[in-house]
Amino acid sequence: MKPLTEQEIRAAFVNCTKGEVKRLAVPRDLAERPWDDLDYLGWRDPQAPDRAYLVAELDGGPQAVALRCPSPAGWQMRRSMCSFCLTAHTGGVSLMVARKAGKAGQQGNSVGGYICNDLACSLYVRGKKEAGAGARLHESLTLEEKIQRTVANLAAFIEKVTA
Ligand SMILES: [Zn+2]
Repeated sequence: MKPLTEQEIRAAFVNCTKGEVKRLAVPRDLAERPWDDLDYLGWRDPQAPDRAYLVAELDGGPQAVALRCPSPAGWQMRRSMCSFCLTAHTGGVSLMVARKAGKAGQQGNSVGGYICNDLACSLYVRGKKEAGAGARLHESLTLEEKIQRTVANLAAFIEKVTA
């Protein structure tokens, strides 16, 4: 994806109030992120372990989602699979929950998905980060197809948040 600035990221949040957007933690090292290898940028708030965020460049421009996730103390040590990148980790995937955008969100509706705790799906798909033996399925898909699938899964998740 193309690099985004802090302003672009803050402007992209679909499920936060203006006040929340102003206060939420955007990484300070944006310039050093491996944008060329990212299908989305995901990060956790170092000050608030139950918060995670992701931003993706979709058809209509960047869209960002705020997520609630279990803090590391609550991570389950069983093996589960990320719904975006289909990497199976032991203790490396959590159910993250996004409040829905707009009225539906105000009424308490949310969307959940199992997502890599470190939100590094793009790097697992590309083999740039290892999740241990047996973490990735042996598939006949090309890297390009796996990337497309990850993006499609991610886009479907964001669509559910904004629907
Ligand atoms: Zn993943």
